[in-house]
Amino acid sequence: MATESPAQAVLDGGGTGWLEEFYQDLHRHPELSHQEHRTASKVAERLGEWGFEKHTGVGGTGVIGVLRNGSGPTVLLRADMDALPVREATGLPYASTATTDGDPPTPVMHACGHDVHVTCLLGAAQLLAAGAGHWSGTVIALFQPAEETADGARGMVEDGLSSLIPAPDVALAQHVLPLPAGRLATGSGPVLAAADSMRITVHGSGGHGSMPHTTIDPVVVAAMIVVRLQTVVAREVPPGEQVVLTVGSVQAGTKSNVIPDSAVIELNIRTYGEQIRTQVLDAIDRIVRAECAASRCPQEPEFEMFARFPLTENDHDVTERVTAALREHFGADQVGEMGRWSASEDFGDLPAAFDAPSTFWALGGIDQELFERAAREGRVAQDVPGNHSSKFAPVPQPTLDAGTRAMVVAALACLSAGADR
Ligand SMILES: [Zn+2]
Ligand SMILES: [Zn+2]
Repeated sequence: MATESPAQAVLDGGGTGWLEEFYQDLHRHPELSHQEHRTASKVAERLGEWGFEKHTGVGGTGVIGVLRNGSGPTVLLRADMDALPVREATGLPYASTATTDGDPPTPVMHACGHDVHVTCLLGAAQLLAAGAGHWSGTVIALFQPAEETADGARGMVEDGLSSLIPAPDVALAQHVLPLPAGRLATGSGPVLAAADSMRITVHGSGGHGSMPHTTIDPVVVAAMIVVRLQTVVAREVPPGEQVVLTVGSVQAGTKSNVIPDSAVIELNIRTYGEQIRTQVLDAIDRIVRAECAASRCPQEPEFEMFARFPLTENDHDVTERVTAALREHFGADQVGEMGRWSASEDFGDLPAAFDAPSTFWALGGIDQELFERAAREGRVAQDVPGNHSSKFAPVPQPTLDAGTRAMVVAALACLSAGADR
């Protein structure tokens, strides 16, 4: 007679009928990075009900639940809680109309699906607690603030995370992405890019627009830099490497006939390895300094790094183990290859604080019919609103169910079997 697997036994525990309503409530009440107070208190309330040891206010609004269940590995499961300053245009009955208190108020929307992550991790936490007889070890359910600003995970680490929780042997996280709802995708190695943002100030010498020979025009220097930076990826990076270098902002001057004193360029860089990242950063430094020298700038340029995301690099062994468990549970056709996404995440800062291996997988959230029609017409990029779009609208089911089950199955793949297996 076939015996039920521990994962199936835990999932059969049920009691997660509240997930969809909880999700819609979170979706209606999104909170910007570092302001996730309402979300955090809802999370903490639930964790307490299920017997988790609770830590709140970690790194601002971070919440951690620890469930010690005998000997065995310690597994950290992570969700991010923050929303984005986007005006929701999904037309959903539970769409957000939330704004900040500021003047003018900023619209707020869960446009990256972090409400899906929070709901699924809570669902998994409940099932793991209720089914504690089927596994042994320690589960840490960690809800972090401020993923979108790249400093939420680091903030928890700097606030003493390692003294609050047992060191995890493995860390797991998932992200809802524009794939068919209920489908999963995993992958070994670098799956999300490291991101660096940089602000460069070039100094010229301002004056009257009618007398350019008496000035050093920073607008021209900035323009040269912007054009020349395009050659970094095109001419210096090996063709097989994936690198993105985008100048997203150029600011200088106030009036057509005034040559300003300085110009500010902001750029964003995405890379998939430390060596290539260093090469690209060095190239930027060289080009900017050389253009300033070429234009006789009176002062060295200034460089300021901000919004730095680590590389999301999936451990080979952990990924293999989790992928095998997900395939067994969902069916091999439901668990695809993730490949590399040019998006970035700060999840990696959590396992890095413990030198623990980790894996991060993609959870599909798009209405299956919509996705398949777009795929047939070769129009997924045009017709399927992705993360950060005002029309990003993961369907609650089967997304929440799949995300909850994926967390449970992956966690159990890393924990020890329980006594009653
Ligand atoms: Zn996002
Ligand atoms: Zn996100």
